[in-house]
Amino acid sequence: KAADPNQKTFADLDISDDLLQAVTDMGFVSPSPIQAEAIPPILAGRDVIGQAQTGTGKTAAFGIPALELIDTSDRSVQVLVLCPTRELALQVADEVRKLAKYKRGLRVEAIYGGDSIERQIRSLKGGVHIVIGTPGRVMDHMERNTLKLDNVRMMILDEADEMLDMGFREDIESILEDMPQERQTILFSATMSKPIMTITQKFQKDPVLVKVVKKELTNQNIEQVYFEVKPKAKVEVMCRLIDTYDLKLLLVFCNTKRKVDEIVEDLQIRGYMAEGLHGDLRQAQRNNVMSKFRAGTTNILVATDVAARGIDVDDVDAVINFDIPLDEEYYVHRIGRTGRAGKSGRAFSLVGRDEKYRFREIQTYTKVKVEKGVIPSFEDIVG
Ligand code: ADP
Ligand code: MG
Repeated sequence: KAADPNQKTFADLDISDDLLQAVTDMGFVSPSPIQAEAIPPILAGRDVIGQAQTGTGKTAAFGIPALELIDTSDRSVQVLVLCPTRELALQVADEVRKLAKYKRGLRVEAIYGGDSIERQIRSLKGGVHIVIGTPGRVMDHMERNTLKLDNVRMMILDEADEMLDMGFREDIESILEDMPQERQTILFSATMSKPIMTITQKFQKDPVLVKVVKKELTNQNIEQVYFEVKPKAKVEVMCRLIDTYDLKLLLVFCNTKRKVDEIVEDLQIRGYMAEGLHGDLRQAQRNNVMSKFRAGTTNILVATDVAARGIDVDDVDAVINFDIPLDEEYYVHRIGRTGRAGKSGRAFSLVGRDEKYRFREIQTYTKVKVEKGVIPSFEDIVG
């Protein structure tokens, strides 16, 4: 495959050889869009506002220029990164350490609540170049005078919207007020709200806005709706949806083989023509199920993600997520079975209490806010 002439390489970004080697070791082939757009202005010394979704490579977008700035012969803190949670602080520290693989003597430390402050104090005393911390714990160290920020030249607010949502605004502001004026301030956020703009105006100098919007992962022709359902009521709700929307050809997904068998039985008892498809079926049985479905003798196919992978059904009226998938990509694959070739399709998700969180994560991933539906009542069905 020929290289896309518009596709930038890491070498085009003018970064040092040791960093080029580190990103290669990390398996990065080319910079992600936010990296390609944010690294040059940050390297040029500008303040930057980076707006991009999760998973777009923001850590290296600020980590690479931050590492270029560090003078390892100076044992003071030169870069401070603020993150909303301990997990994120650890993740960022991990990624920055990988990027710093060939920077001899460069020290990175994550400081967050819940970890021994004495250990952090000892580590900071030993000389750290990049501190990655949560606002509360950073404040704590500043008050104890165990974290000195006089030599900080770059300050990064990672996941700024999350930090504000978590109530860190005051901490962030007092940390920023205590920092040297001569510094670069970089802010990353998935969303741009008014409070974020206020921070930006107060603490950044003539910032460059870099915005990368991921393309939508799901098809516009698919109407996505979810229903909050008690696990025990899922079969009942599914039957009401089938009747209300007069669904003729549909795919029902669940997460386990056992669930497939249970649901098929429940549907058959209620008089629906349903068949199951899962990995335990022999090829002949699978073929039999599929030909019934194609012929219309069966109109409901209940399947696991793995079993559905190979099947080729052209267009179904609806996909029902009886269980919310464990993997976000599965959601995209599942609902992609409907709404093909410009036709409209429906994707209904039955969300149990313990699935709400996962369903939110899916919406973050697909960047589509799914509407909450009203469960059809018995009266709606009998007319
Ligand atoms: P974000 O902070 O935007 O959510 P991360 O910086 O955590 O994203 O990156 C997400 C994942 O993508 C990480 O596993 C990271 O190592 C990987 N990654 C980052 N940049 C690249 C790249 N240019 N090529 C391949 N993988 C990358
Ligand atoms: Mg991140």
